[in-house]
Amino acid sequence: GAKKRLAVALLYDPALDSSSAQTLSLLGDLRRAVEQGELRLYLQPKVALQRGAGAAAEALLRWQHPQRGLVPPMEFIPFAEQTGFVRQLTLWVFEQVAMLLAQSLARTADLHISVNLSTRDLLDPELSLRLGAILERYQVSAGSFCLEITESAIMDDPQRAEAMLNRLAQQGFKLSIDDFGTGYSSLAYLKRLPVNELKIDKSFVLGMQSGGGDAQIVRSTIDLAHNLGLTVVAEGVEDAALMERLRAMACDEAQGYHISRPLPAEQFLGWHAGPGAA
Ligand code: C2E
Ligand code: CA
Ligand code: CA
Ligand code: CA
Repeated sequence: GAKKRLAVALLYDPALDSSSAQTLSLLGDLRRAVEQGELRLYLQPKVALQRGAGAAAEALLRWQHPQRGLVPPMEFIPFAEQTGFVRQLTLWVFEQVAMLLAQSLARTADLHISVNLSTRDLLDPELSLRLGAILERYQVSAGSFCLEITESAIMDDPQRAEAMLNRLAQQGFKLSIDDFGTGYSSLAYLKRLPVNELKIDKSFVLGMQSGGGDAQIVRSTIDLAHNLGLTVVAEGVEDAALMERLRAMACDEAQGYHISRPLPAEQFLGWHAGPGAA
């Protein structure tokens, strides 16, 4: 069925830029990873700091390599980004999340999952169509997804990014600007984008305790988000004191090791179902 069709699409993508032999071999490894089912979907919970928000998580990719063990995304996403293969990875993650939502919607009404998009995805004219086809196949709604786009990916080609974000927003996806504060976007520009959420980069959150101005950046970002009518999420929340400080600053949501590490998808469903259910 669906799984087989996806695998075929992954094996024969003529659009891939494959120059050197080394690139080809790494690319071969990654293709094999998809084909042999070596990719793993992890989910990291996001929790509400104020009342009223529903359950949510971010999808994070891992590669269970037969020799190297569990490979973190920073060891293959940048390469996949260079070659364009990352678009296949995005579709894999998106499809896994769609499958999971289709399974869990029967049990939980209000689960939202964030999926990371890469710079390459923003340049893919077929993206919206491909995502739409997956939604259709699993009968899940775009509104259950939040698409995270880094501020620097947007600023790479702001006009194209804006057009793409408008299209995805019209399709019903929630949109989030990831790693906010690291990509030099202007406020005037930010105001025009159809986004729902700002995600404060973890470097600022982790730096809040050390008094070098990061706490002020976090506070201003929270105010900015609220003034623009956006939800604001802090990532990299590693301890209880930090979480309480963010709550007092009116930050809406938190994500980080203090709440939970990224979990294998099956384990997340147990976490999500609450204590006693896991
Ligand atoms: P990101 O999107 O900013 O994801 C957040 C990263 O912070 C994750 O690293 C997460 O495990 C880590 N993290 C979460 N809580 C804490 C904390 O309390 N302290 C610290 N120090 N770190 C925390 P991870 O999973 O290694 O992913 C790294 C990056 O790889 C992601 O950064 C994202 O840019 C990229 N990535 C991961 N999965 C995907 C994917 O499916 N597609 C794309 N395009 N990129 C992905
Ligand atoms: Ca992210
Ligand atoms: Ca981030
Ligand atoms: Ca990041």
